[in-house]
Amino acid sequence: MIRKKLIRKNLLHLKELIAAKCLSTGREADSVTLIAVSKLFEIDRIREAISAGQVHFGENYAQEFRDKYAILSDQDLKWHYIGTLQTNKVKYVTGSADYIHSVDSVKILAEIQKQAEKKGKIQKVFLEFKSSFETSKSGAEVEDVFNLAGGINRDE
Ligand SMILES: *Cc1c(COP(=O)(O)O)cnc(C)c1O
Repeated sequence: MIRKKLIRKNLLHLKELIAAKCLSTGREADSVTLIAVSKLFEIDRIREAISAGQVHFGENYAQEFRDKYAILSDQDLKWHYIGTLQTNKVKYVTGSADYIHSVDSVKILAEIQKQAEKKGKIQKVFLEFKSSFETSKSGAEVEDVFNLAGGINRDE
């Protein structure tokens, strides 16, 4: 019970911080989407966040996401697959995740497209590019922007 109140309290606090920042920078408060990273959190904890009004959730392990998505399919949620996705795991995520983040290769993009077509879905993705020359950072090289972006529809 104490924990339940804590999740609600933390979410409300975060929303207040976001609203204050938006106000001070002249941005619409609802132009910011708060994604609760729910990976490694049990279903009950996620339900607590849902009951506190949280809609967007982020997952990072493909099979874990697949299982949670199925369990929570009665809820009106938006799922984000965050972090790097391996080609062989694309099938667990595509068509279920509302957004796949960190897409950084034509190979992954092609596999997402293949799986999306199989399921008759249009998959929304975010492309990730390296904005620095640190080799440790993930993301595609900026020179590859046309290669990558050329393969997708830019509707939204
Ligand atoms: C897990 C994860 C986060 C959030 O990490 P915390 O440990 O909850 O701060 C952010 N981005 C990605 C890609 C992740 O996998």
